[in-house]
Amino acid sequence: MDGLHPDRPASSTRAFVTLVTNADYALGAKALIHSLRATGTTADVVVLHTDVAEVAGLDARQVRCDLLPTSDAFNMAHARDALHARAAFTKGGKPPFHTPLDNFAKLRLWQLDYERVVFLDADTLVLRNVDKLFDYPEFCAAPNVYESVADFHRMNSGVFTARPSAATFADMLARLDVPGAFWRRTDQTFLEAYFPDWHGLPVFCNMLQYVWFAMPELWSWDDIRILHFQYEKPWQDHDKADKLRPLIDLWKAHARGEVPDLSTMPAP
Ligand code: UDP
Ligand code: MN
Repeated sequence: MDGLHPDRPASSTRAFVTLVTNADYALGAKALIHSLRATGTTADVVVLHTDVAEVAGLDARQVRCDLLPTSDAFNMAHARDALHARAAFTKGGKPPFHTPLDNFAKLRLWQLDYERVVFLDADTLVLRNVDKLFDYPEFCAAPNVYESVADFHRMNSGVFTARPSAATFADMLARLDVPGAFWRRTDQTFLEAYFPDWHGLPVFCNMLQYVWFAMPELWSWDDIRILHFQYEKPWQDHDKADKLRPLIDLWKAHARGEVPDLSTMPAP
């Protein structure tokens, strides 16, 4: 736990972990934690955060940390404007509060004092109990499907299983920040390279919000475990909000502390 500052001891060997580096993602974490608690999980819930005041009231173990100690060259290559210029996002919009470099701090979960971790982006909601994911090996993730079957080639790093290990963390840092390194989709590109034999989770363990309008035949409320608001966030005003209204309303209900009845959700 070198350089990590927990606000309390661990109370389980297993934890769901999310990351918050600014006030906006603390809004996401609040709704996520509420949704997780509603599943009756027995695992710890951890918020890794970079000294963000807004995490103070969250119902989770808070672990303060710094961003990774990456080099100036690495930080410049992955600065928001530089990354957007070199590898533009053409399929959706990234919110102004999204700082690509911050994503790499996810890797700090390998430093945590747990045997098993399930990482969840702060823009996810857990709709059904997923504690069985702790029995899955490292490294499991779902495909990055939101537009077409070609998306099955790639993984999405918003949900994955991991086994913390100081040795793995050190090895990752050494692989990450090499001369000339450019990870175009940040931690996602890195983790895909680091775990080339990643095990596939069902798409329902990381259902991306664009599937709602782009691949409606894949949508199934009965099967979705984790819903992920990739690109535009449900707490923002954005140009796809009308198309995503029922999903945004679901997120807002969790943000208010309600547990919506999924059986009343409309079909796409
Ligand atoms: N994140 C953060 N601050 C940032 C960028 C990212 O805390 O400036 C964390 C947060 O947990 C977020 C995750 O990293 O959910 C990945 O970013 P995001 O979900 O915005 O990426 P997307 O899912 O749209 O690819
Ligand atoms: Mn996300």
